Amino acid sequence: MSVFKGQNFIDGAWRDSSVQVETINPSDLDETVGTYAKATPVEVEEAMAAAKRALPAWSAFNMQARADILRKAGDLLMARATEIGLLLSREEGKTRPEGYGETIRAAQCFHYYAGEVVRAQGQWYNSMRDGHNIIVSREPVGVVAAITPWNFPIALPSWKVAAALAYGNTVVLKPSSFVPGAAIMLAKVLEEVGLPKGVFNLVIGDGSAAGNIMIDAADALTFTGGTATGRVVLKRAAETMTKCQLELGGKNALVVLDDADIDLAVEIAANGAWIQTGQRCTGTERLVVTKGIHDEFVERLAKAAAAYRVGHALDADTQIGPVANEPQFKGNLEFVADAKYEGAEVAFGGTAVEARTRGLYMAPTLLVNTRTEWACNQHESFGPIVSVVKVEDLDEAIASANACDYKLSAGIATTNLKNAERFRRASQAGMVMVNAPTAGLEYHVPLGGRSPSGYGPRETGAASAEFFTESKTSYINHGAI
Ligand code: NAD
Repeated sequence: MSVFKGQNFIDGAWRDSSVQVETINPSDLDETVGTYAKATPVEVEEAMAAAKRALPAWSAFNMQARADILRKAGDLLMARATEIGLLLSREEGKTRPEGYGETIRAAQCFHYYAGEVVRAQGQWYNSMRDGHNIIVSREPVGVVAAITPWNFPIALPSWKVAAALAYGNTVVLKPSSFVPGAAIMLAKVLEEVGLPKGVFNLVIGDGSAAGNIMIDAADALTFTGGTATGRVVLKRAAETMTKCQLELGGKNALVVLDDADIDLAVEIAANGAWIQTGQRCTGTERLVVTKGIHDEFVERLAKAAAAYRVGHALDADTQIGPVANEPQFKGNLEFVADAKYEGAEVAFGGTAVEARTRGLYMAPTLLVNTRTEWACNQHESFGPIVSVVKVEDLDEAIASANACDYKLSAGIATTNLKNAERFRRASQAGMVMVNAPTAGLEYHVPLGGRSPSGYGPRETGAASAEFFTESKTSYINHGAI
């Protein structure tokens, strides 16, 4: 297949570079997928400056025209879902349905935010003073730096960029260097639908080198990535008091109670743990199972793991694609080795597997007889690995699920409404699922976790106005007018 070529997009122009970054197909390490121009520090500064210049006109841009641009961007993404999805499969290792589905989701985010443009913002209050009233309005936050990870290369940049643009901000996006291709496709779409120059810019670069320049010059930073990186960017942002929205790591627990529908429990556990190769921030990494159902549940889940077909992302029968990149692949295998050293037993997987090409294939992995406080239940693997903890009852299950720093998503499998509601209330996670996988989010409601899985206002849905706008309170004395 042909090698995808990508450049930086700055102030409405495509810029090449003498320094190139290459990406490799994780399904086939002998295939180069893309070569990309790496932005110099000066180019990153230029991108930030272009976004600043474009801000006043875009903030004042006709509302209907702004909504139309976003809607058309959604239409084009939808029309190109097969092409962009194929690039996702080649560059990130998503199966064909995953790559296609993610692109459709990106398109839906643009459609959603096209609607948000024209929805009411702000409130009108009576005043305690006669003849006065008070208006609380919202204004764009300004130049937004968007920094994204490798696991959702088109959906994640899209929900950040669409929201930023909808509320009248300008953007500089830096995608992960592992997967810049889809973000470049997004830039092409935004260019084609007539977004004015400088409103959206894209730079390809390494984390801190490009990131620091962006954070220093931005009014606001929307960042998704690991918690350790989140701490670094937050410190940097503190220097300039840049407003931050950080979506970070997870170690999401699914509780399975004795009264669960066992077929459903196995299905949602397997989906949460292994689909998309376990590379979802909301994926299930811990299973907290009460003793009555434990043995049968584990036996059936191991069988479900064995039934998955792991293979080349483009093969029609593949259900789990490769691990997305080499550092993540090595990290997964080390994670299993460390868990075994702690005392975990491997009920299934734990190893690399072979497929028809030389790729980063790993078996869906089930670790059992683990304890809540062990590292395998405290540190994010971000791979297709899940550990089981056996508990006495719901009280112990709640305690175990909450006994972890990460607080992103959590779930419970139960047929008892009282148990479901108790768990929903007691969970400290930012998102709670009842009889559904811990992963699988919708774009019209808030997404996010409590610290250290998240920091600052939530993203997606109308809640994202909190981050992408600033509030202004105006006191008006009508008597004097
Ligand atoms: P990462 O933290 O390594 O990188 C994320 C982005 O930050 C990349 O673009 C990277 O180049 C950039 N970066 C790295 N160092 C930087 C620095 N010093 N300054 C500025 N930018 C810097 O994360 P990753 O490996 O790409 O992604 C996996 C992580 O993302 C996992 O921890 C996962 O849980 C998390 N994630 C969270 C969510 C969520 O919504 N909470 C969603 C997806 C992924």
